[in-house]
Amino acid sequence: MRHVITVRAPNPSPMTLSGTNSYVVDCFDRVALVIDPGPNMDAHVRALLTTAAERGLRIVAIVVTHGHPDHAPAAIPLAFATGATVYAHPRCTTPHARNLELDGELRVGERTFSIMDAPGHTFDHIVLYDRHAETLFTGDTIVGEGTVVIAPPGGAMRPYQATLERLAREYSNARFILGGHGPVVNDAKAKIAEYISHRKLRETQLIDALSCGAQTIPELVARVYAQTRRELWPAAARQILAYLDALCSEGRVSATPAPRPMSAEEYAMLNPDWDSLVDPELAKVLDAELGAEYRIEKLDHYALVR
Ligand SMILES: [Zn+2]
Repeated sequence: MRHVITVRAPNPSPMTLSGTNSYVVDCFDRVALVIDPGPNMDAHVRALLTTAAERGLRIVAIVVTHGHPDHAPAAIPLAFATGATVYAHPRCTTPHARNLELDGELRVGERTFSIMDAPGHTFDHIVLYDRHAETLFTGDTIVGEGTVVIAPPGGAMRPYQATLERLAREYSNARFILGGHGPVVNDAKAKIAEYISHRKLRETQLIDALSCGAQTIPELVARVYAQTRRELWPAAARQILAYLDALCSEGRVSATPAPRPMSAEEYAMLNPDWDSLVDPELAKVLDAELGAEYRIEKLDHYALVR
């Protein structure tokens, strides 16, 4: 894929893996599209400008896959430096000049990208498909390694699963996936199938844990994510919440207030204070990824509806 240059932002973390992937796509006619300009870091913006200039490309368009702080903010300085047009999902609150036409197309130079509305990780998420290069640009819908966070209220599980199903159905010709983090995926079909079955497996594990008597989110996390490092349990708690929201709204699980207050340990898992744990830039990313503005103040008991 010589026409796509990955410029990785220097923002590694457990949430962003080795850093956010920004893509400079050669669209012929000496013009380039930048997909996910990344965090607003001077060195990164300079790296994007240099990458394009070294190849004789003029950046004329910028697309943000979604508005999270590790993907979108550099759109502003990059557009300022190049005069490029910034495109985003109509619901995206990152400043952008043009709304993408959902389930329509975007033409840049001689390249045409299909734009798919891709709710789930966030509600302002899009996926691009370059038919000629058989490549999906998936942002945080699918990443190069591991799985992505689906956390309410910005994210929701059933829309996410529907997005994955749609990718499997409508983009079965795709060969490559270039995600927002991690390496290139060389077997798109297998990766999409893996993501679909992973979500089903987690839901089955959650239902099993409920039927074994786990009632609260912390109890469910301890069972379902027993193999996962404890530092990641706050993220796991938000995933469990996303499944429970879906199951409750489908009438398959009920929620009732627990007859006791939340312990300090439970509170810390459900509402981690990132500012005291990590540096402020990463705290911003974690807050956005995990929907931390949504506080879980009371403990609920969940049960299967029989
Ligand atoms: Zn994200």
